[in-house]
Amino acid sequence: MDLTLLKQHGLVPSSAPPAGFVAEDVASRPTRVPQMALTSLALDVSGGCNLRCRYCAEQASQPQRRPMEDGLISEAIRLLGNNCPEGSRGSVRLGSGEPLLALPQLRRLEAEIEACKASLDVFLTTNGMLVDDTTADWLAATDWRLKVSLDGPPDIHNAWRVDASGKATFAHVSAAVQRLVDRCADRVSATAVLCRRAQPKVVFDSIAALGVRRIELVCVATNDKEILLSAEDVLAYHGFVQQYADTLIGADLETQPMLVGFEEAARRAMGYANTDLPCGAGRTLAGVDADGALYPCFRFVGLEAYRLGYLRSGLEPQLQHRFCNSVGCATGQRQPCQDCWAQSLCGGPCFSVAAFFGPGAHAPSSLHCAIQLANARAAVKYVTRQREIDAAALLPLLPIEIPLP
Ligand code: SF4
Ligand code: SF4
Repeated sequence: MDLTLLKQHGLVPSSAPPAGFVAEDVASRPTRVPQMALTSLALDVSGGCNLRCRYCAEQASQPQRRPMEDGLISEAIRLLGNNCPEGSRGSVRLGSGEPLLALPQLRRLEAEIEACKASLDVFLTTNGMLVDDTTADWLAATDWRLKVSLDGPPDIHNAWRVDASGKATFAHVSAAVQRLVDRCADRVSATAVLCRRAQPKVVFDSIAALGVRRIELVCVATNDKEILLSAEDVLAYHGFVQQYADTLIGADLETQPMLVGFEEAARRAMGYANTDLPCGAGRTLAGVDADGALYPCFRFVGLEAYRLGYLRSGLEPQLQHRFCNSVGCATGQRQPCQDCWAQSLCGGPCFSVAAFFGPGAHAPSSLHCAIQLANARAAVKYVTRQREIDAAALLPLLPIEIPLP
């Protein structure tokens, strides 16, 4: 990675903040280590996948897994029911492997959630290969949030996302996206993985053209230098997100396709949801394997060194404490985050990406930082400018729980 090039564009953690950024307005309160209740569980329901994406992070870092039995699903929902008192919300995340391979278990999960007294949101991530009309009808009838993995137009998507026999998958996946958008567009999002020679604008526009309103562009997680983004690719992303911010200035956000990483950074640039963590993994969130063992999240499932407890007995405090003070530490304990102007907009690196694909000692990679800093710079520019023109146009970015005066 050519750091000189990134430095010139302010995309390294030691860069100065952009104009309009006031650190005191967006400071996050340090998250205290644990004794928080588990309110989110990532269930590895199918234990497998029907694709063989060329960059798969799960295949690179996790062992073989097996499907979950019904009893375990009931136990997971019971735990969430006990940990989420009335008035609070918990969540079930279905996303490691391909959850729709385990359709009967998902149907039972739906029934268990309906019968549970707690309010549980369900987030399902799918590769789209099994979303036919019947499954799309069923998913639309739930209130689940649905995320489809789609890497962009056919030439880009098919270069990476292939089935077990190496065949292209774009036709199947784009048809799945269309089925879901036609039925429940407000609950559908898409995630595209950016690899070497990424064309972020082309990818974003092609997904938006299918009617998807929320689009996430994430960096590939790999150690393969042929696949990783180059400094030029990062600059292409920087250019794209700057231009994206410009198109939003003065526009009605409700009518624009939203770039998820930018949206998050913009909300935090306004002083909401600032954080010193990337997620609740190992604190309020755990991944569950087919034996009922708990791990920080789905990306750690099956790795004994990261086991944090069992569904029946809960998180083991010493194991949780060790995780939260090492791989899962907050920005205040992590270099170079401590000195990075964007720390409360970023929250630090994904724990699993830093642990398995970082440069060492669980540090964020310069690539991860450059993308986060590109989002943060564009977000600060947008929020600063939009506040001058018409601050009310920023309201759709606020978390809905914030009471308006
Ligand atoms: S991970 Fe985020 S907070 Fe940490 S140095 Fe990189 S950009 Fe800054
Ligand atoms: S550690 Fe990374 S993959 Fe796991 S929940 Fe957090 S952000 Fe997601």
